[in-house]
Amino acid sequence: MLSKVYDFILDLLYPAWPSCPACGREFSSSEVGLCFECIEEIEFIGDDYCVKCGKLTKNKLCLDCREQERFFSKARAVGLYDAGLKEYIKQLKYDKRQQLATPLARLLIRYAEHYYQINELDLITYIPIHKQRLEERGFNQAYLLAQQLSQELRLPIKSLLARIVDTARQSDLARQERLQNLAGKFEVENQQLTKGQRVLLVDDIFTTGATVNEASRLLLEAGAEEVKVITLATGKDFVR
Ligand SMILES: [Zn+2]
Ligand SMILES: [Zn+2]
Repeated sequence: MLSKVYDFILDLLYPAWPSCPACGREFSSSEVGLCFECIEEIEFIGDDYCVKCGKLTKNKLCLDCREQERFFSKARAVGLYDAGLKEYIKQLKYDKRQQLATPLARLLIRYAEHYYQINELDLITYIPIHKQRLEERGFNQAYLLAQQLSQELRLPIKSLLARIVDTARQSDLARQERLQNLAGKFEVENQQLTKGQRVLLVDDIFTTGATVNEASRLLLEAGAEEVKVITLATGKDFVR
């Protein structure tokens, strides 16, 4: 009894603080929902980014954007795919720590509002993962992020894209090749919902941009008016 009272008083004096979903340390509070140490581990994108794809660069356009046709009108990211952010995305995807989706989505929401006029967008969609991976992992991280973005920005979330696999050809490939082959093969599964829409496309990582570029191309082909992209992480330009 005495110890219960003692616990009660202790709780009043030192309320239980939440533990950081990334490092497990107790922390007082932060708007994002990660402890300050973990936030500090993120290399946020500042002023030096490609005006087209958001990649870190000192140039106006990165090498990829100078050399390749981009179908999205703009892509932007929260931070560099390195250090803290790389670690948190890995924890979310491969350690299946879904509790990280909320703080990461909060960062994404902030950046989306910073870079884009939300009233110039009609809907949110996301890069789907292949069915096999969805079964293995149990969730699609891009969907988890998009869902929270949709709630916070009050934009409807629509599943517009689907992965397609050529199973006959796939079976001839080695496993690693097969996984690579799965990436970046889509179709628009709902043309009706796509037509005339200004789309915000969500994914976790922008590396070369090949995946979101292909998805954007298909969405435009299906009648979307415009595609803007937001990702958590992005890469560095080759030429700096
Ligand atoms: Zn932490
Ligand atoms: Zn670029």
